[in-house]
Amino acid sequence: MNASQHLPKAREFLAETHEVVNVSRELGDYNMYLQDAALLEAVRREGAGWAHDDLIAFGSLVGAVDYRALGALANRFAPELETHDRFGNRVDLVTFHPAYHALMKTSIEHGLHSSPWAEPGPGAHVARAARTYMHTQVEAGHGCPITMTFAAVPSLRTTPELAKIWEPRITARIYDPRNVPHAHKEGLTIGMAMTEKQGGSDVRANSTRAYPVGAEGPGEGYELVGHKYFVSAPMCDAFLVLAQAPRGLTCFLLPRWRPDGTKNPLQVLRLKRKMGNVSNASSETELRGALAWMVGEEGSGVRTIIEMVAMTRFDCMVGSAAGQRAAVSQALHHCSIRSAFGKVLDQQPLMQNVLADLVLESEGALALSMRVARAMDSRAERHEDLLVRLCTAIGKYWICKRTPNHAYEAMECIGGSGVMEDSPFPRLFRESPVNAIWEGSGNVQCLDVLRAMNKTPEVVDAFFHELAKAQGAHAALDHWAVSLRKEIGDPADIEYRARDVVDRMALAIQAALLLQHAPTHVADAFCASRLTAGGHRNYGTLPPGADCAAIMERATPRA
Ligand SMILES: Cc1cc2nc3c(=O)[nH]c(=O)nc-3n(C[C@H](O)[C@H](O)[C@H](O)COP(=O)(O)OP(=O)(O)OC[C@H]3O[C@@H](n4cnc5c(N)ncnc54)[C@H](O)[C@@H]3O)c2cc1C
Repeated sequence: MNASQHLPKAREFLAETHEVVNVSRELGDYNMYLQDAALLEAVRREGAGWAHDDLIAFGSLVGAVDYRALGALANRFAPELETHDRFGNRVDLVTFHPAYHALMKTSIEHGLHSSPWAEPGPGAHVARAARTYMHTQVEAGHGCPITMTFAAVPSLRTTPELAKIWEPRITARIYDPRNVPHAHKEGLTIGMAMTEKQGGSDVRANSTRAYPVGAEGPGEGYELVGHKYFVSAPMCDAFLVLAQAPRGLTCFLLPRWRPDGTKNPLQVLRLKRKMGNVSNASSETELRGALAWMVGEEGSGVRTIIEMVAMTRFDCMVGSAAGQRAAVSQALHHCSIRSAFGKVLDQQPLMQNVLADLVLESEGALALSMRVARAMDSRAERHEDLLVRLCTAIGKYWICKRTPNHAYEAMECIGGSGVMEDSPFPRLFRESPVNAIWEGSGNVQCLDVLRAMNKTPEVVDAFFHELAKAQGAHAALDHWAVSLRKEIGDPADIEYRARDVVDRMALAIQAALLLQHAPTHVADAFCASRLTAGGHRNYGTLPPGADCAAIMERATPRA
């Protein structure tokens, strides 16, 4: 017998081990706008119906499978820093995967960084928020420089001589990532550098100093010496920076290059190694006499930059609402295909309870975000302005804080494959705490709510006026509003109780919005699960009677 006679037959090598059945499949091309009933309704309701056709086109673009793949790519290949070129020149160059640039280009060409400033009018913020909401579902990290560029405009406008030079190119729909002086560019991006090692929330602790180089005051040149411990998107063309001027903490605009074409010494020491938000470079920097122009009044740095921070906080709400929507879309899709114990998952009563509960969270987050967007469009009206002041802090706190657990629960709906890196969930999950921590962490937001109510008591009346619009629609909200008013009015231990108070305010305003605008089955289940004794516990604890099938149906995206 020769050796070949010992070999098994080819048929045995190629034997089929198993048939691949009962597995989910990729959610195919879908229109991220048309397939989102809550978003469609919010856009019309809050004054951006005129943008409907454009939003359909945008929803189709960003909902395509190939386009959505850019989000994964931009995070798989993290940005890299080159401090010097090969000849030894300082360059502070961050290089990105082409997918990141593609996402930036889309955002800028669709005005996500500027449309309400360049084309203000009814619904301008709402339409932008709708686009941001969709694009963030594809990828959140690149949204950081987009948001900062958008948010910088109100701060910059405090100094008209600077705004005149910078604003047209900040708001232009041109993405130019080249590492060249801003004078050579038609489109610019803006970052923000406040945080230092010794103090992030408390920026008054900033130690970076500003020295006048000639005349002093708004619009004049200073040299900044110090460090900034968190500078995201360090390839931006300029940064709003806080530094101690002779008369106190002041805001400055610091360009990446000096007007004479030399590198401005905002030197990037290293990029942070982040657990999430990977596509976005965040850096540690030193300012070694970097040229910057004063923005706003000397000593009014916090007041000047807070204009920017208010906008970034709003985008955190929208971004986390988008994270919730992305997670629940994937969970609904998966559970409409996969079966266990002889039944499709979304037909199993307990899974219906979980999925519907996740949808309610996401509907509440969107409704509040879009209501604030409309208020931002109408700030000339006192009531709307007061709502922006209060509800941005409430929403930033609540929506961002609810998102990590939401992402985790949606991941669990997928089962083990949800944990794998080739599923969208690890990225959604790792991204989910970021919005809650930056731009004023949870406690800071709650204290800001207290500050607003203390300093401008009219915000409380504005808030209850909003709740009153839903009065009589659900007994639980009526009771909730009465006890909330008592709690807010009681100054004892108010700082200690701040989270409890703001939690309740957030749930009340979300419930009031859903009762006015969402289908009854959505609003009723929201109130029954979140405003009754015991409050909301784990997802999947909706009380009996909730119309889970209807809640899920309107939220399930179909390719
Ligand atoms: C990915 C990422 C990117 C970032 N990019 C930038 C950037 O581009 N530019 C920039 O300037 N910063 C940036 N930051 C920094 C961020 O804004 C700060 O981390 C944040 O403001 C918190 O500051 P801190 O880290 O110093 O924490 P701390 O200020 O030390 O706060 C720690 C904790 O204490 C709480 N706390 C603070 N004060 C009180 C109080 N009075 N009562 C009760 N609790 C309180 C806070 O809520 C927080 O939970 C970034 C952060 C991250 C994570």
